[in-house]
Amino acid sequence: MKKTLNVIAIVTVLMLFGSCKNETKKAETPKPEVEESLKVSKKDCNEVHWSHHKGEKGPENWKDLCDGFADCGGKSQSPINIVTSNISKESKLVAPKFNYAKSAINIVNNGHTVQFNITGENTVDLNGKDYKLLQFHYHAKSEHTINGKYYPIEVHFVHQHSATEYAVLGMMFEEGKPNKLFSKYLDKFPTSKGEFKSEDMVDVLSLFPSDKNYYNYQGSLTTPPCSEVVNWHVLKTPLTASKEQIAQFSKILNSNYRPIMPLNGRTVGQSN
Ligand SMILES: [Zn+2]
Repeated sequence: MKKTLNVIAIVTVLMLFGSCKNETKKAETPKPEVEESLKVSKKDCNEVHWSHHKGEKGPENWKDLCDGFADCGGKSQSPINIVTSNISKESKLVAPKFNYAKSAINIVNNGHTVQFNITGENTVDLNGKDYKLLQFHYHAKSEHTINGKYYPIEVHFVHQHSATEYAVLGMMFEEGKPNKLFSKYLDKFPTSKGEFKSEDMVDVLSLFPSDKNYYNYQGSLTTPPCSEVVNWHVLKTPLTASKEQIAQFSKILNSNYRPIMPLNGRTVGQSN
């Protein structure tokens, strides 16, 4: 049952990416006599509000907000601090092979992030396994750190292979040349919950740095339900955005990053 709830929770979070709506039916309706005693633990996770900010609904308490968020207290959580001197030298990982087309976009602010929903067939081959691009969204500051260093923004390209296998390509932003996507859309990003529908077709691959080598480890979604289903690829080469763009976007994103989680014995690999 937990597995089923987890899968439902993952699918829901990827559709809504954590918006606090109540649109998905409960997977299980507890019997009335036990419902009262299990009121807190059995609460429908879709009704649960959570926050990136410290407090009752904050990251340190996500695991206790409802049963479906239990993974937030798991041993393979994301983000992590990537220590480059500890990278496993044994891995034979290769650079991603992209099969992306130009895609229609829909920009949504769901209250937790600004997200570009993608339609169309965009796949990436990661070490022999195909994953389909679903959406990308942003965090400020970065969620991962590299040798303890935070970057001002991190973008996550979320891909799916199966119901329980996801791959996220994470990219850091540093201050530099203006970012073309931001130049085009930053003024249209919804500053509170809402969406911007565009007729434009975006060449998603053109948003990536030319060097696509990465750090790799097994982790989780960084927002509830924190499911441990993500094959993480954090690109080594950062993207750039201007100081003004970073300031403007960071204000909208409002510190939507999860604190660093312990490695708990996991190893980090890399492609060269
Ligand atoms: Zn993310």
